Order: sequence, then C-alpha cells, then structure tokens
Amino acid sequence: MNLFETVTQMGHEQILFCHGKDPDIKAIIAIHDTSLGPAMGATRLWPYASEAAALKDALRLSRGMTYKAACANIPVGGGKAVIIANPENKTEDLFRAYGRFVESLKGRFITGQDVNLTPEDVRIINQETQYVVGVEERSGGPAPVTAWGVFLGIKAAVEFRLQTQNLKGLRVAVQGLGNVGQNLCQHLHEHGAKLFVSDISTQKTEQVKHLFGATVVEPDEIYSLDVDVFSPCALGGILNSETIPDIKASIVAGCANNQLGVEVLHDQMLAAKEILYCPDYVINAGGLINVYNEMIGYNEQRALQQVTNIYDTLTEIFDIAQKQGITTNDASKQLAEDRILKAKYLKTMAVA
Ligand code: NAD
Repeated sequence: MNLFETVTQMGHEQILFCHGKDPDIKAIIAIHDTSLGPAMGATRLWPYASEAAALKDALRLSRGMTYKAACANIPVGGGKAVIIANPENKTEDLFRAYGRFVESLKGRFITGQDVNLTPEDVRIINQETQYVVGVEERSGGPAPVTAWGVFLGIKAAVEFRLQTQNLKGLRVAVQGLGNVGQNLCQHLHEHGAKLFVSDISTQKTEQVKHLFGATVVEPDEIYSLDVDVFSPCALGGILNSETIPDIKASIVAGCANNQLGVEVLHDQMLAAKEILYCPDYVINAGGLINVYNEMIGYNEQRALQQVTNIYDTLTEIFDIAQKQGITTNDASKQLAEDRILKAKYLKTMAVA
C-alpha cells in the first residue's frame, strides 16, 4: 500500500502509529475528518493477520464514522482506532499505555468500546485519558436510543414508500431480538404493527412472542416472508446475492452494522428490486448520538430529541436517490459529503 497516496485519496487528516516495548503495544489511530468536530470512533482490538490489514480497517471504519456523524447532524468528526493484539493477551498495562496515546491527541480523538473491549477495559483507558465516551454509568446502554432511531427510520420509509403515517397492521420481520431488536419490537407493537421474528435464542423468541404477540419463524425463513418491512437487527453482511432474491419486503430498515455484503453490488441489487434500503449507518446512528450526549453532559431526553434527525435525514436521502436515480447508499454519502464541505467552507469564511 502506498500510504500517503491512500490517505490522500480517502481524505484522512492524520494517522497515529502507537508503539512501545514495555508494554508491547501496536495500535493505529486514524483521524479521518474533523471539519464538524473532534473525531469520534470506538477502539477495536483484533489479532489482524498483517499490519496492512489493521491499517485498512482503521482507514475504512474511520471514514465510515465521518459519514455517520455528518448524517446524524451532530458536531463530531470521524475516527477509529485498532489495537493489534490477541484478546487473550489483554492486560491493564496495554490499555493504560493506549489511553496515554489517546490523551496525547488532546481531544482531537474521542473513543469508546468496540469489538473485544469490555466496559472494564474502557474504564482502564479512562484512567489515563478523559477522552472516552460510552461509560455505562454515565449514559446507560445505547440500545434504547438506537431502537427509537430505527423506529423513526421505519416510519420515514413507510411514509415515503407506502404513503402512510399509520403503522397499524404493518407487517414487520425483525431478525435478532437483542438489546436493540427487543426495544424496537416494543415500539412497533405499541403502534399496531404485526411482528414476525427470528433469533437463535429460543428464550428471546418466546419472550417476544409472549410480550408482543409476535409470530416466531426459523432464522433462515425470515428473509422470504411476505411482509412490508424487513428489519435486520443481528448480523452484518446479510444483504447479499443469496438473500436479496428472496426478500419480498419493499423496505429494509434495521440496526445491524454493515448489512450490505458487497456495498456497490448489493445496494444496486436492492434498488433493482425496488426495495427501499435505509443505509445502516444512518438509521442506527442513535448509539452515536447517545455517546455524543455523554460528551456534552448526558441528558436522555435531549438524546431522544436529537434522534428525530434520523427521520428527516432519511427522508432527504430518499428524495435525493429518487431525483438523481441513484441508490440510497450513494445518496447518503452525497448528503454527508455536502454537509462536510459546507462546514469546511464556513470555517474558511470565519478565518477570512
Ligand atoms: P445484541 O448482541 O444484543 O443482539 C443481537 C441478537 O442477534 C442476539 O439476540 C442474537 O442471539 C441474535 N442473532 C445472532 N445470530 C442470529 C441469526 N443468525 N438470526 C437471528 N438472530 C441472530 O446486539 P444489539 O446491541 O441488539 O445490536 C444488534 C446489531 O446492531 C449489531 O450488529 C450491532 O453492531 C448493531 N448496532 C447496535 C447499536 C446499539 O446501540 N446496541 C448501535 C448501532 C448498531
């Protein structure tokens, strides 16, 4: 990889390579864009096969965070950090050393918990740096706020595609009944939707059947149901060449990250079937909005209020996609890039 060429092409501002011998630490902090505010992105710990693979992940995920924050209309930029390590070799010293690197950026990068980090690991990082969010005692878990955003996103999609504000009788298939999925089912049930659900845990499916009168289906049946909305709330990569031909829903709207198997191929496949896809990083931004609120002094009511942006942003994205004949995925990137350009322009004007 030609590093500077790649970074220039992707638009990154700064990459910090963190290394040390005692403790042995190898981490990469990628700051993609701070036009809207300090770069925010959680820290992932992974035994990457190569340093190039770790860098690629940090570059890709940090750019994704810039788009996510811009679409969520919150004043933060995009960043991401990866620690190259085996989860079995995690130590307090490792996280303390990493925390000092985060602190050295003096707030240009704010981080939290991602894959292979526990709340306890985040607490250790927090002992070395104040630039940490998502500490459970401060803002609670993000799932209720994320679920509220997904519910509003479904409303926006239903209004756009099915031309109604009434969810009564709407048939929704929810894949995954975890922290977000169950909260989402509750909102949908309270608004009269008819639920079809799947999970690999029968305890969870039984609970949702009992609480919300949901019809339980087998995990591999969820794609082909005759429903209005398919809501992926479990795994990434589930919109792919095998599943898309089976989907009968006219709307796909759920919280799972990275739903598209191959981004540029599978968003086109969905569009070709006239399925309205709500880009995952737009509809699931409630979690980011929640941690942003922790940064400015947590207030759940304000966080829930800011989540209403998701409804307006998705409606704008659907309009752009329809008018320009592009996919909703491309429309969301365009909207994010426009907002960032505008912020950059306003900054230049303020300096001049
Ligand atoms: P979770 O771990 O609480 O729930 C995931 C659920 O999916 C579990 O109940 C699990 O049993 C189920 N599942 C796993 N494999 C399945 C399969 N093949 N079929 C059906 N169900 C299956 O996670 P969560 O916090 O509810 O998040 C769900 C998704 O949304 C994840 O992809 C997560 O990254 C993403 N997300 C979550 C948040 C948040 O605030 N929690 C924010 C943004 C994105």
